[in-house]
Amino acid sequence: MEKHDFDLIVIGGGPGGYVAAIRTAQLGAKVCLIEKHKLGGTCLNWGCIPTKALYRSAEVYHLMKNSEEFGILKSGITVDWELVQCRKRKIVDQLVGGIVQLMKSYGITVIEGEAQFEDTNTVLVRKSDETTENYSADHIIIATGSKPALLPIEGADLPDVLDSTAMLSVEHIPNRLVIIGGGVIGMEFAAIFSAFGSQVTVIEFLPSILAQLDGDISKRFTPMMKKRGVEILTSAEVKKIEEEDGHVVLTLSTKKGDMKIPADKVLMATGRKPAVEGLMLEKAGVAYSKKGIGTNSYGQTNILNIYAIGDVTGGIMLAHTASHQGIIAVEHMMGMEPQYNADVVPSCVFAFPEIASVGMTEEEAVAKGIVYKTSKFMFGANGKALTLGEGEGFLKVISDEDDVIIGVHILGPHASDLIHEGALAISMKARAQDIINTIHAHPTLAEVFSEAVMGLKGIGLHAA
Ligand code: FAD
Repeated sequence: MEKHDFDLIVIGGGPGGYVAAIRTAQLGAKVCLIEKHKLGGTCLNWGCIPTKALYRSAEVYHLMKNSEEFGILKSGITVDWELVQCRKRKIVDQLVGGIVQLMKSYGITVIEGEAQFEDTNTVLVRKSDETTENYSADHIIIATGSKPALLPIEGADLPDVLDSTAMLSVEHIPNRLVIIGGGVIGMEFAAIFSAFGSQVTVIEFLPSILAQLDGDISKRFTPMMKKRGVEILTSAEVKKIEEEDGHVVLTLSTKKGDMKIPADKVLMATGRKPAVEGLMLEKAGVAYSKKGIGTNSYGQTNILNIYAIGDVTGGIMLAHTASHQGIIAVEHMMGMEPQYNADVVPSCVFAFPEIASVGMTEEEAVAKGIVYKTSKFMFGANGKALTLGEGEGFLKVISDEDDVIIGVHILGPHASDLIHEGALAISMKARAQDIINTIHAHPTLAEVFSEAVMGLKGIGLHAA
């Protein structure tokens, strides 16, 4: 067999790629990671982390403005946007620096440059000084992520129409922000900027926002956002965006007819598309479509020594899925037998309050003809939630006819942390009684989960 430079080349240093590289090094193989921009990828630099840094600043501002509820009197609270941005950059830099260190300590060769395929075992890397070099490996993982998918409408290229990356670094908090798309990214930005004082309008093509989540969540969350001053227009389609006297105007068609909305900034949060351009996949014979690179459950493409993981596969576009798929791919190529359970992937929306979901929604259970039960427990009946001043929302649990937990959906404080008890329950096929037998500490938000599960058996203690 021909001797290659590396056992594995990973293209892309996001949460899929850098985790795959670390796992390979842990297993004793020689690995090279090629990144054209910044280690950490979308997640650390333009996604999960910077949005959550802004989210936290927005949350602190909201809490301070409403501090009298806690008996704390306030005066003169203002936002210094430059300091908010500085804090965001510091957190991002700290985490990216941590990955650089990890690569060094695992002995991973990191190459800066843009990779493209030459054949099934070779990639050409174009470096920033325009020089090129070829590298070869027994296996290659494609982890090139995704890019914003912008609507092809008139005005989409105007300077005040931004994608999520540009929105993260706007110079000022816009007075009027219109967000096209009521999915996860759109609603997170709506929550953040409305808390900072922008007048936010969300325009969603479908009949509801967050349409992929359990219907009860969207139904209850929509009025909560409206109460915070966010205008939500559903079943509405943006036709064009025009410049007018220093701002922009959107023309939309809605059920009530055409309307125009003025805005200072427009965020296009209309989904993301797999980043396959420029990879020259044809040279390696890797099959792909505009939906992404197709793989089996180990991440193997049609060319068996080439794997694809994360957003570029067009599946669930989340950082933790990308990382998990990276580990599965590496362990599979090293002859192990890893398991990927795509049914148990927690997903979170960092809004006010948080939303988190895992397993089957009630709508999916109905569509699959599953005999199921649901139970809900309200955060308003939980002592810890009330002490936090966050008694809004609920936890909904779904079980099958054998009392096995199959879905958990949370709208409420710290939902993104609480969801993991649900994820563990589903992945271990726990029955309601297993949860009930597990003592939950008091006073905690976790009691909401045990109370909701007790409700499945009709023995809830604190439900009215
Ligand atoms: P990426 O993170 O996109 O990394 C791909 C890397 O490949 C990039 O660094 C890119 O520069 C590099 N690359 C591309 N082409 C080449 C090439 N030819 N040669 C060399 N390098 C190349 N997910 C969550 O789980 N939680 C969240 O809270 C969350 N919030 C988000 C908020 C926003 C605003 C956005 C946009 C996304 C968010 N996501 C979140 C999604 C998450 O960021 C992605 O799912 C995740 O980053 C995908 O990881 P990846 O490794 O597949 O790709």
